[in-house]
Amino acid sequence: MKRQTISIVIIFGVLSIISILLVQIFWINRTIRAQKDAITIQEKQDSLNIQQFEESVRIALKEVTQNLSTNEMDESDLYGAVVQKSANYYLVDINEDLHPYYLEQLLKRTFYKHNINENFQYGIYDCFNDSIIYGNLIQYTPDSIYSTSDKEIGIPSPEMNWKKDGHYFTVFFPAIYAGEAVDFGSEKSPWIYLGIIAMLLLIFFAIAIYVILRQRKISEIKSDFVNNMTHELKTPISTIGLSTEMLLKLDFLNHPDKTKKYIEIIYKENKRLEKQVERVLNMARIDSGELQLKAEEASLHSIIEEAIENFKFNQEFSGGQITTELHASTDRVTIDIVHMSNILLNLLDNAVKYSREAPLIKITSSNKEEGIEVCIADNGIGISTEEIGQVFDQFYRVPTGNQHDVKGFGLGLFYVKLIIEKHKGKIEVESKLGEGSRFIFWLPLGKV
Ligand code: ADP
Repeated sequence: MKRQTISIVIIFGVLSIISILLVQIFWINRTIRAQKDAITIQEKQDSLNIQQFEESVRIALKEVTQNLSTNEMDESDLYGAVVQKSANYYLVDINEDLHPYYLEQLLKRTFYKHNINENFQYGIYDCFNDSIIYGNLIQYTPDSIYSTSDKEIGIPSPEMNWKKDGHYFTVFFPAIYAGEAVDFGSEKSPWIYLGIIAMLLLIFFAIAIYVILRQRKISEIKSDFVNNMTHELKTPISTIGLSTEMLLKLDFLNHPDKTKKYIEIIYKENKRLEKQVERVLNMARIDSGELQLKAEEASLHSIIEEAIENFKFNQEFSGGQITTELHASTDRVTIDIVHMSNILLNLLDNAVKYSREAPLIKITSSNKEEGIEVCIADNGIGISTEEIGQVFDQFYRVPTGNQHDVKGFGLGLFYVKLIIEKHKGKIEVESKLGEGSRFIFWLPLGKV
């Protein structure tokens, strides 16, 4: 996917998420407002109904009290006798003979008359010890209007003296709501849902973008690799072709020097070709997990010395200098000699490739933490701090703009790190742009 297409996808994605969220916020706000209005209307209605109900109950109870009293009571006495404790709970003081069955009938009749169609509980209390002496639940049914419930909430006492003064009775309506204001806490829940949806959308979007960018990077890396490889293989092939063409035209006997020169070019380019193909094959082996180490005990110093000799011979290393300070007193390691030599050749190759002047390479060794540490330092172009963390990545090459003079696949250091780690070792790089680089690897001593 092109960079521009990705930007468009991201912009559209962000815009869609924002619009979805805005629409959600708008609708949730509207719903909450509508709910609030409905609740306010309902509350007003309820409070009107409750007020009406309370008024009817008070009048009915006043009437009951009046009917119960043997003496003529004036209005103020009557109102004083009926005490409203809450919307659904009333207390009536009475200093008269009080028979529960009579009271029950009276309450039923009066409530029916005043249109109070609710279940109610009544209880008769003893003023002196505030304990209930009789009580009952009366259930309202539209057919029989009122019928006595089997459930008795009080226990009629055999010693109950109905004629005794100092009784009061209470009436309670269980179905009438006497509680607090409506709890608006539940309104928050749509916002929690919206938050969760927004989070999920963002996470999903971020994952999608991450996958797209990763795929793009991989495809860029792959196409770079193919371009590089084609170039790397094409150059020696065309050089060999050209030299062969010259040879064919040449009179060998009269120009032995020129002939030798062309044959040398062909040999060198062929070697280069061989090396490139070997590198790609090695990587293919690593990728398919076929790489097996043939570990054997060997002297690391000898391998280093040999690698330097080979390198000097193959590269026709000239103008530069490779020095060694191999001070490690113990250098016996268990390693795969072929891969270890490849590592050293790769590091030396890079030290030469990434130097503008005659390369000065210094290889040192020392014993550290039950292992041996080898450092290959050069005075080359160095690596910037932004790039240094990535040089060991597969196919990674430090961008050089339009300059393509240094060839490579970005596989060398990846291979080096992989092999070192397979030997249970570690590798790091220190570098300063324009001053040179130091590749330091450590391997455990003895058997791995
Ligand atoms: P290649 O050399 O094929 O590009 P490598 O994996 O060997 O791939 O190296 C990765 C990158 O690290 C190189 O492209 C180069 O920019 C940088 N690099 C490696 N060795 C050195 C060095 N000695 N000095 C400066 N830069 C280096």
